[in-house]
Amino acid sequence: MFRSLHMKLVLIMLLLITSLMTIVGAFLMTNITAFYIDEFYQQMADAFSTDNAAFLSSLRSGAAGEDGAQQIQTVIEANAGALGINFNTRQYYILDGTTGAFLAGSDEEGGSRLSVTPNLLAARNGQVGDESDITASYMDLAYPVKSGDNFFIIYIYDNRETVSDLNGQLFLIIVQALLVGLLISVLLSFLLSKTMITPIEKLTEGAERVAAGDFSSAIQVESSDEIGVLTTTFNDMASVLEETIQAVEHERNKLDTLFLHMADGVVAFAGDGSIVHCNPAASRMLESDVEHLDYDRIFGAIIPLEELKKLQKPNYKKTELHVRGRFLEVSFAPFDQDSGTGILSVIHDVTAQRKNEEMRKEFVANVSHELRTPLTNVRSYAETLRDTDDIPAETANSFLDIIIGETDRMTHIVGDLLTLSRLDSGRADMKMLRFHFGEAIGSVCRAVELEAQRHGHTLIRDYSTEELPMIVGDRDRLEQVMMNVIGNAIKYTPDGGTIRVTAGSLKDQVWMEVSDNGIGIPRSDWDRIFDRFYRVDKARSRESGGTGLGLSIAREIVQRHGGTIGLTEHEGPGTTVRIVLPIRQDSVAEVSHET
Ligand code: ADP
Repeated sequence: MFRSLHMKLVLIMLLLITSLMTIVGAFLMTNITAFYIDEFYQQMADAFSTDNAAFLSSLRSGAAGEDGAQQIQTVIEANAGALGINFNTRQYYILDGTTGAFLAGSDEEGGSRLSVTPNLLAARNGQVGDESDITASYMDLAYPVKSGDNFFIIYIYDNRETVSDLNGQLFLIIVQALLVGLLISVLLSFLLSKTMITPIEKLTEGAERVAAGDFSSAIQVESSDEIGVLTTTFNDMASVLEETIQAVEHERNKLDTLFLHMADGVVAFAGDGSIVHCNPAASRMLESDVEHLDYDRIFGAIIPLEELKKLQKPNYKKTELHVRGRFLEVSFAPFDQDSGTGILSVIHDVTAQRKNEEMRKEFVANVSHELRTPLTNVRSYAETLRDTDDIPAETANSFLDIIIGETDRMTHIVGDLLTLSRLDSGRADMKMLRFHFGEAIGSVCRAVELEAQRHGHTLIRDYSTEELPMIVGDRDRLEQVMMNVIGNAIKYTPDGGTIRVTAGSLKDQVWMEVSDNGIGIPRSDWDRIFDRFYRVDKARSRESGGTGLGLSIAREIVQRHGGTIGLTEHEGPGTTVRIVLPIRQDSVAEVSHET
């Protein structure tokens, strides 16, 4: 109930007023009583002082008579004013000095019931009893009067009703003042709360808004006092906070975009192994619904989480993972080491790199193998020529022919390798010119016609040159491709076969197909015949002078033109190779970009 500042303020005011009034009241009442007592004894001291000799001597002479008590009574009543006797609250009594019996006085009834006070006792011992006692409910003075054998005591008694009445009235006034004071304090506290607490409440509301992330409106500064300064400082703090949050948000957005689009996978784990962040690349590479897994289920088998948590910045751990045919290189680094270490893992897909390495190794092994065979042949024939005496000239010539043939083969392989290397490195410039597609096919067919005839093949040209359009490309290299494909058809078709060359154009493409009824290519080898050095039948290929590089060169050239080359379905025995090329290419750069 007294939690609010307003109630506390009211309570403080009430306590303050009550305690103040109590203290003032107590002080006033005590002082008034003390003043009244002092006044009484001062008045008595004045009346019975030796300076007042007339009064004292008249008392003594009165006491000397036989009716001493009556005479003293007469003297005292004559001096009642000076003694303050009002016959109501203050009375006088004349007592027998020896027995203390009441003889005369202003209050006969009270006189017979007088109690023996310390002052009365003192007077009976012959001394003036004028000791005051603030704790007593009365004030008294006992004055002994001796004259000869007569001994009287004049006893003045005040029942303090005057001061009690006064104090009672004072108490009433104080209570009334207290009530008024309490009322004023309640009103004042409301006023104070208006001027002090209302701005604090507004500040609290503003702080709650800021805490909820609403920075839209600043709190109005209504005064220049401490609360006004506090409000201004709070507004400044809120705007700095807003700027900081915006900067952090900006950074976060930047990082989010980066994580979203980066090629490497990123997975962040909290200290307990749960996933805090995972980008799409990571889900793709790990090929699972990563977000529902934890560290132990993803990487737990490779490196325990606890081991990584012990790493100190900038150390990190690297490992390689093999997931469904992919090679993944994963780096782990700790983050947020002050508040419960988390682990950041960056996944890099090195599959292409590894495959390239594999291909490179395979390629080097193939080249070595391809060159070693003719070299061994050359060496053995050369050694035979050197070591054999009287070798017939005919045999020697046939040996030399073999050596020349093997050398040609090697030259052929090295030439093809050079062409491939140029195409790979992009150093093989394409002379892009407009030429007639049909005329190019015609010139290749004419060139191979003799060779086809030698094998008894029928070469059918099943296309109309006029219907074929002009295209843009490197004519020499494209003719080399056509030559290779038709050459293969001649090579891999038993003598007396049929080779059919067809061609046509689509909307923005031209195509050419070379079909034969030769030995054909098994379906399982369709994709691989374009690989370097791949041959379906190695011995047959080598016999016919093949290097196993022709089709890979052809594919490189066609791809550099933005086209495709592949095998298509073929009815009956034999093979059909199809080449498709775009009609228009504005520049080589564009082509290489597309491919
Ligand atoms: P090669 O120089 O050995 O002919 P290519 O790269 O031109 O090399 O051809 C690769 C392999 O594809 C050949 O060794 C051969 O086994 C097969 N091949 C290509 N064309 C044909 C075809 N028309 N008929 C059958 N096999 C073919």
